Amino acid sequence: MRRRSMGYQSPIPVELKQANAKMALGDYSSAAYHYEALLREPNAENTKKRAFFSIMAGRARILTGQTSTGLAHLKRGLMRLAEGSHHIQLYRIGLRIAEELRQRNLLKEAAEISALVNANIPATAELPTEHSSHSAPRLPAACAVCGGPLRSDEVEWLTPRQAECPFCNTPVNAL
Ligand SMILES: [Zn+2]
Repeated sequence: MRRRSMGYQSPIPVELKQANAKMALGDYSSAAYHYEALLREPNAENTKKRAFFSIMAGRARILTGQTSTGLAHLKRGLMRLAEGSHHIQLYRIGLRIAEELRQRNLLKEAAEISALVNANIPATAELPTEHSSHSAPRLPAACAVCGGPLRSDEVEWLTPRQAECPFCNTPVNAL
């Protein structure tokens, strides 16, 4: 995996690396703790990053069985995407979260997430069609800098072959 050594303006918080590492290891309770610590940082200016921190905190809490805390994080994260007009991410991530909740038999929660997504996507938003994800190039499974999980249809593409890590904003080259 290629690692870039260019100096990016903001250093990668240790807390973020910890959170992503614990999540990847399946230590969801520690992961939630670290994502929540990131959310408490007063200088976290980027709402899209914070949206992803909230969503990961929510997924981690759901996976530890703390459904109501997890659902609150998930809703806050999706609302942050909505407020930033990140409609494609809101749509795709919202659908995936609803599916994950259904798979855990959290049907009421899944319905709440679907309703939130539907209520916050303007009719004029240009949404991807079912097949558009097939054309997105593959990405490494995780960001080499912060360890955040990457999905080619949920990230923003800077160029046709380079996407941006939503957790730390590092450019990531397609495979
Ligand atoms: Zn990253």
